[in-house]
Amino acid sequence: MISNEPLADESVCRLPKVELHVHLEGSVQPETMRELSRMRGRVGRDVDKWIRQQQQRGYHYASFMEFVEAFKFVAVLLERPQDYGVAAARLMEWLAAQNVKYAEVTLSAGVVLWKRQPLDAVYEAVREASLEAEARLGLRVNWIFDAVRQFGAEHARQVVRWAGRYNSQGVVAFGLGGDEERGPAELFRDVYREARDLGLHCVAHAGETAGPESVRQAVELLGAERIGHGLAAARSPKLSALLRDRQIPLEACPTSNVAMGLVPRFEDYPLHVFLEAGVLLTLNSDDPALFGSSIEREFLQAARSFGLSWQQVVQLCENAVRAAFLPAEEKQSLLAGIREAAAI
Ligand SMILES: [Zn+2]
Repeated sequence: MISNEPLADESVCRLPKVELHVHLEGSVQPETMRELSRMRGRVGRDVDKWIRQQQQRGYHYASFMEFVEAFKFVAVLLERPQDYGVAAARLMEWLAAQNVKYAEVTLSAGVVLWKRQPLDAVYEAVREASLEAEARLGLRVNWIFDAVRQFGAEHARQVVRWAGRYNSQGVVAFGLGGDEERGPAELFRDVYREARDLGLHCVAHAGETAGPESVRQAVELLGAERIGHGLAAARSPKLSALLRDRQIPLEACPTSNVAMGLVPRFEDYPLHVFLEAGVLLTLNSDDPALFGSSIEREFLQAARSFGLSWQQVVQLCENAVRAAFLPAEEKQSLLAGIREAAAI
C-alpha cells in the first residue's frame, strides 16, 4: 500500500484488533441497561431519565467525580451476578463485531465488593460469557481485577487475593483505578508486591488526572507493567524515555481523555509525542458506553486526525499484541493474523 495515499476506513477495520483497556461496567450500552431493567420486571424510568441526561451531556464530564457518578450509576444497576453475565455477553458481541481477536477486560472487583455482592458468582457469570464468546465468536478474553484507589490499601488487598484465586481461570492481572490524588501509589506498594507473589501481572491507571510523577510512581513504586492512560508522561521527555527503555506500554484512550476534558480535542492527543519518543503505545476505548468510544473508532479517528501511515496503523495493532498478557505462541498467532490482513 502506498504510504501517502489516505487510508481507507475498510483497510483499518480489516486489521484484527487487540483491546487492552476496556471496563465492563463502562461498556454497558443504553439498550443493555433497558434490557436489564426489563429482566427485573421494572419500568426503568430512572434508567430512561439517566440515559436522556447522558445524551444531553454529549459524553462530556465536568470533573472526574462527575464521571465517577455516571460509572457508579451503571455499576449499581448490575444487581445480580447474571446482570454482569448479560453485560459481559453484550460486550463480547460488540468487541467481536469490531474484529477484536483478543481482549483484556477490566472488572471493577473493588466495586463488586463495595456493593457486598458475591464476587465468586459475579466472576463465574462473566467468565462463562467470555468462554462462550471464545467458542462462538473466536474472541479470546482474559480479565483484570481492578481496585479503587480512594478505597485504600486494605480494600485493594482484598481485590488482589480474589484475583489470585482466579489466576489460573482467566484473571491475568491486578489493576488500580480511581482518584490518583486521594489514592497515591505509595499506599499500595505492599499490595502490588503481594499481587506479583501470587503470579499476577500488574497494571495501574496513572497520569490521567494527575501529573507525570504519578506515572513514575506507578512504575517505580508499584512495578506496573503497563500504564492506563499515562497521558501526563507526554509532558516529561525523561519519563517517556523511561517508559521506552523499560518497554512499559501505555494504554492510550484519546476519546476518553477528550470526554474528561483532559485533552481539548482528539487531534490534540499527544500521539506523535509518544511515537517519536519510542513509547510502546496501544489504542483503547476505556468506557465505550460512557464516552461514545469504540476501539474501531479510536483507530479510524487516529488514522485521520494524525495522518497515520499504513505502517503506523499496523504497528499500533501489533503494539497491543506485544503489550498483552499472553503466552508467546498466542502472541505469534495474533501477529501472524495482523500481518496476513495487512498484506491483502
Ligand atoms: Zn480506565
